[in-house]
Amino acid sequence: MRRFAAVLVILSLFLPSSSAFATDEAPLAGYSPRSSQSEREWETKFRAIPDTDNLREDMRRLSARPHHVGSAYDKDNAEWILARFKEWGLDAHIETFNVLFPTPKVRVLEMIEPTKYTAKLEEPALAVDPTSNQKSEQLPTYNAYSIDGDVTAPLVFVNYGLPEDYEKLERLGVSVKGAIVIAKYYHSWRGVKPKVAAEHGAIGCLIYSEPQDDGYTRDVVFPQGPMRNSDGVQRGSVMDFASASPGDPLTPGVGATPDAKRLSLQDAKSLSKIPVLPISYGDAQPLLAALKGPMAPNEWRGSLPIPYHVGPGPTKVHLKVEFNWDIKPVNDVIAKIPGSVAPDEWIIRGNHHDAWVNGAEDPVSGTSPLLEEARGLALLLKQGWKPRRTIIYAAWDGEEPMLLGSTEWVEAHAEELRQHAAVYINTDGNDRGLFEMAGSHSLEQFINGVARDIEDPEMKMSVWQRAHLSAIAQAKAEDRKELRQRADLRIDALGSGTDFTGFLDHLGIASLNLGYGGEDEQGIYHSIYDDFYWYTHFSDTDFVYGRALAQTIGTSVMRLADAEVLPYDFTDFADTVHKYSKDLQKLLSDKQEEIRERNQELEEGVFKATLDPRRPTVAPQHEEVPPHLNFAPLENAAETLTRSAERYQKALAQRQAELGETPEETLRTLNAKLIESERRLTNEDGLPRRPWYKHLLYAPGVYSGYGVKTMPGVREGIEQKRYAEADAEIVRVAKALENEAALIDSASALLEKQ
Ligand SMILES: [Zn+2]
Repeated sequence: MRRFAAVLVILSLFLPSSSAFATDEAPLAGYSPRSSQSEREWETKFRAIPDTDNLREDMRRLSARPHHVGSAYDKDNAEWILARFKEWGLDAHIETFNVLFPTPKVRVLEMIEPTKYTAKLEEPALAVDPTSNQKSEQLPTYNAYSIDGDVTAPLVFVNYGLPEDYEKLERLGVSVKGAIVIAKYYHSWRGVKPKVAAEHGAIGCLIYSEPQDDGYTRDVVFPQGPMRNSDGVQRGSVMDFASASPGDPLTPGVGATPDAKRLSLQDAKSLSKIPVLPISYGDAQPLLAALKGPMAPNEWRGSLPIPYHVGPGPTKVHLKVEFNWDIKPVNDVIAKIPGSVAPDEWIIRGNHHDAWVNGAEDPVSGTSPLLEEARGLALLLKQGWKPRRTIIYAAWDGEEPMLLGSTEWVEAHAEELRQHAAVYINTDGNDRGLFEMAGSHSLEQFINGVARDIEDPEMKMSVWQRAHLSAIAQAKAEDRKELRQRADLRIDALGSGTDFTGFLDHLGIASLNLGYGGEDEQGIYHSIYDDFYWYTHFSDTDFVYGRALAQTIGTSVMRLADAEVLPYDFTDFADTVHKYSKDLQKLLSDKQEEIRERNQELEEGVFKATLDPRRPTVAPQHEEVPPHLNFAPLENAAETLTRSAERYQKALAQRQAELGETPEETLRTLNAKLIESERRLTNEDGLPRRPWYKHLLYAPGVYSGYGVKTMPGVREGIEQKRYAEADAEIVRVAKALENEAALIDSASALLEKQ
């Protein structure tokens, strides 16, 4: 699965007169001048290898049949990928875990009042789309890890189903207690919707794809266009991974090996609390059209030709879902290239291979480039390239149900990964457009550097330059100056939603999540129409961005694997930490101001005066203004970190010319410290109420799902009004940053005394 990227608006349509690629640059960070020269030569050779015909044929093969967890073609694909790795001469194997994977047995949705309607719950085959008719192999439309349930109740429309939507409902005097809610997809990860609904007393949850979000409002619908048609349904997991943990719900924290101790189904913490079912807008429309009660607030209304009422009722629905709660195998395909000098330092690269159905876009548009990278690296090995570090290529299974294959692998190999893993690079599909960078900020400078060396297939400038200019075009006025002056583009922090989660959040392995996209609208996500026909008509149809992705990630893997000193940088990181600290202080003061203002309006009688007696609303409650928190420890730690980062940067620059003569012993010690730098940002006790999440700087939000919460203990403490907890979390984050600074200082000392 993957976040839903908003389509970009490209305002700048000029081309540079000359290429941005020079060959006489300064040596690469972490490389001596001589090894930098040789590295650039190998990388240039590599980038000539990925081939668009191969990418197309690999996609055709991998997406030819439905290949969800436990299906015959999922296993077949894993074996085919394994055979490719071996054919290229790589040391590869399949690693299998046994996980809980529910599939639907009964799905009923009917409106019983005020009129009768039985939902179709079916995506029809389309004559023009040759794989859409593989009915016997397709998973029906459903949300995995919904509990079984049989409920009948009035319906309430809850917008996107987020906490703030329920605050609005309260103001409208509408309760969802004992009701079934219907929420729109998007604006949060889908599993947040049933979670919040259950917290407010709802007994069932429907999630529908609103045409305004990925249907006819945005572009022509499939098969004439790329968007979701009236029968299209978004499948997807509703496992509550953000509050508990991703991966197999029966073996949290340990690999789901045959002899692993398993929880009983009743004790699994990450299942939904109420039954959930996803539906098309074709099935949603009659239900919504029959609703009465208050009109939905303006911004809640979609583009169906109906008045959007909130309810409750008179629409009354019967929802029944039952699942086969089976244990199924997931087959991760792992290939290893041993390092020639530092085999104990690992660079890991992954993309999943399982899909909800045929999954040409998600995930095969990322799996095919991964294969081209592996083929390319294998070719270079035959030509004499000897990577310094060990490289591991992984095609994960079971990502869609909730990161099953990668999480189980991470948990099973936790000890050795903690010792050896330097960086994990993830992709999850690929489209046409801008280079999108997200990840650990100690890698911000590194990935900016790679992006400067990759050519954009459409604009013939570097993908960095295109991303930079597009960022300027879209920036708010106050951000443009920084964009023009700062050397590196800021990269986004990582939330979740794909396979980096176990690496980064559980073990503290510096991670990147990369991809191209943003130029094409798409409305086939997790439907039977995400297939080869759709991809080759509406996305990267000539696979040039697939090639660019293989070039980008392959270059990244090589550059990380070959550097004498791992190319982490802490100056951008320290800068980001400062920014997060300021953001949190602003979050608190905005919240104080908002509550102070609302309390004053309550005293002034504003709510009473503005009430429309014919459309009564409920005034909000008086609320205590949040207390001040002590951000001093965080600010001080950020200062310390900045000084350490600058010292390290200087020490490394001064050593660069002689890096080639540095004793291996010293390099080994230095790199071990660098590898540890991301681990220092974790805490063994984990985040409050979710100990599986150990990173103190990045985590998926309990109420946003895939969306990141930076310094999550502090941020969610403020958002959820646990102020004492936020204060304590500030101290914990500050301590981790002080420890980080001490580690960086010890790395600097190693470079300085040589
Ligand atoms: Zn995916």
